[in-house]
Amino acid sequence: GAGKGTQAMNLVDQYDLVHVSTGDLFRANIKNETELGKQVQSYLSSGKLVPDELTIALVWDRLDQDDTQKGFLLDGFPRTIAQAEALDQGLEERGMKIDAAVCIDVPSPVLVERLAGRRVCPECGASYHIKDNPPKKEGICDRCGAALEQRKDDTEETVKDRIDVYHKNTEP
Ligand code: AMP
Repeated sequence: GAGKGTQAMNLVDQYDLVHVSTGDLFRANIKNETELGKQVQSYLSSGKLVPDELTIALVWDRLDQDDTQKGFLLDGFPRTIAQAEALDQGLEERGMKIDAAVCIDVPSPVLVERLAGRRVCPECGASYHIKDNPPKKEGICDRCGAALEQRKDDTEETVKDRIDVYHKNTEP
């Protein structure tokens, strides 16, 4: 809800990077009913973090594909201290480094308002808001023409839990 997915999309287009979003990867696994998808479904719908072991394995699986040689942007990872340490270690082993990190600072009440009105494209990942950033045609993605959806974890109750999880696990 801070806008990391939206900003990530702008940056990967502008700098020709591979976009690696752990949230998108988990949602694709759930949609395709993979073994991993079944394991992580309940965490995503309740707004809890997926266990580090599964998340770290997923990220390296993606980063070890050839297309990331040109550069990549991590969106939604790392989200815990253990993930940050695994990232540092894995990058060192591969002789790679992070060039920059983006800090997006948004007050909690704004997050709740944004996420309640958010609609997302299940095909290309584009994000809209029913009031602040509506698509040209209601319910249809401007970028790819797919029907927009509301994420299951974008309810007010789950959003509050996600913000708590952020303060407890990610902020440190
Ligand atoms: P996002 O799309 O970034 O808002 O992520 C949606 C959900 O995916 C989160 O609420 C978590 O359940 C899960 N998730 C995404 N990234 C991570 C991560 N780095 N560690 C653990 N869980 C994650």
